[in-house]
Amino acid sequence: MAGYPSVNWWPHNLRPYESALSFVARFCALNGVPARAGTAFLGVEPRHPRFVSDDDVARVSSLLGEDPARLTDVLQHALDFRQCGTYAPPPAYSQGPSVRYCAACAQQGYHSYLHEVPWLTKCPVHLTALTTVPANRSGNIGERRLGAFKRLMQGHCAAWPHFAPDGFPTREPGALLTLAAWVRDACDASKRMQAGELWRSEAGTHRGAVTMAQALGQLHTLAPLPTELEPLLADRGDAWVVHQARFPRAVSRELARLGERGLRFDALFAFYKDSGDTSEGSPAWYCQSVQQQIRQRHGTCACRWERVNAGFGAFCWIQTQPDELGQEPLQCPFEVAVQDLELDWGSQGRALPSRLAQQEMYRFLKESHAMRDAGVLSYKEGAQVSPDGYLYLMQRVWPCCEWNRDSPLLDLFRTAARWEIDSEHRAITRWLDDIEAGSHPSHRQDPLYCVRLRSDEQGASLLHWRSADHQSRG
Ligand SMILES: [Zn+2]
Ligand SMILES: [Zn+2]
Repeated sequence: MAGYPSVNWWPHNLRPYESALSFVARFCALNGVPARAGTAFLGVEPRHPRFVSDDDVARVSSLLGEDPARLTDVLQHALDFRQCGTYAPPPAYSQGPSVRYCAACAQQGYHSYLHEVPWLTKCPVHLTALTTVPANRSGNIGERRLGAFKRLMQGHCAAWPHFAPDGFPTREPGALLTLAAWVRDACDASKRMQAGELWRSEAGTHRGAVTMAQALGQLHTLAPLPTELEPLLADRGDAWVVHQARFPRAVSRELARLGERGLRFDALFAFYKDSGDTSEGSPAWYCQSVQQQIRQRHGTCACRWERVNAGFGAFCWIQTQPDELGQEPLQCPFEVAVQDLELDWGSQGRALPSRLAQQEMYRFLKESHAMRDAGVLSYKEGAQVSPDGYLYLMQRVWPCCEWNRDSPLLDLFRTAARWEIDSEHRAITRWLDDIEAGSHPSHRQDPLYCVRLRSDEQGASLLHWRSADHQSRG
């Protein structure tokens, strides 16, 4: 289209919250060009979520004479949770090329990017359910979506590619304004929560993911959701609560001191866990009580599932009859849960030689030297140490180290570990409940980032996020 004398577009033709898909499709229709040429001319590909750079916005604005603020709003999704950082809902995963739309909006020639975000299930304008249609069969994803979209709009609105007279959004409906305000509040609250964050937990053999339920539940807690928006959301989320433990200033001073020596919290905490503290109040000690609760719930095994080794470190689950159990060295879900806890937290798990592979061993040695120099760690009596202060490798190195009992960080480590174990216990309990209710054991999605450490003017504080509706069973 480079040779065309002018293009058919006018300022503010773009509507608030309009989708890039609708923008490109209407541009093509208004100028009578095929999808590929229009997309190439604008440099905007209407795939599933894709944000356009500032440079692209400026370029499109100068090409079309469109208001740059409105273009930014549309092409960069002004109404979005991106700024929530690690509190944001999971991004959309592509389910293949399709178009999700609101039929009432389509009748007015309108389509919004909000119709396609995974955290909404209803149109925020009409509060009605959204419909998904598959895209065309040929072309790239953008072209396929454009083809399906064009057919869809022509079927719903005689005026398209123009808007129906008096169509949306000549008046911006209330729910949309409320939604925009809530998303803004949630982003601000998330930013405040993450200010000064030093660390967040990713613990566990079964590293999970932030699900829609967790993200929306947490955001709901940070910025209460207005009642009128509840029906719109994909998952109102379980009620999530956050507990906070504050630690004295000595703790944040110590963290700062060690930070200056290049020792960050995650390295210190991982090291503390590796050093295998088994005294009362330690992670291993707490782990044991949780394992005991799981064994009690298990009782005599009547499980219908067994985990088998599928080779190359992979496992799979097979269904068995109760009378077949115990004949082979297989593990039922309860046994797997107890073993996972042991590997992550228990004293035996830490002792497994595979736990500290060669590479890990060198890291451990280097760090133990640095931590000993920093005065937080001592070598136990009988440990073989080289003249320059490194542990010799011919011994099992982790039992040689001991975290100093008077370290101000000890209480912080223990609380963080207890909360991590507690999170894992909750996830295990939910997983076992689901299996009992008939779900496949490979379906498991633990929450993520449930324990977070931050520092502020008053000192350090540890946050524990957990779902309120699912108490771990005794
Ligand atoms: Zn609608
Ligand atoms: Zn069992």
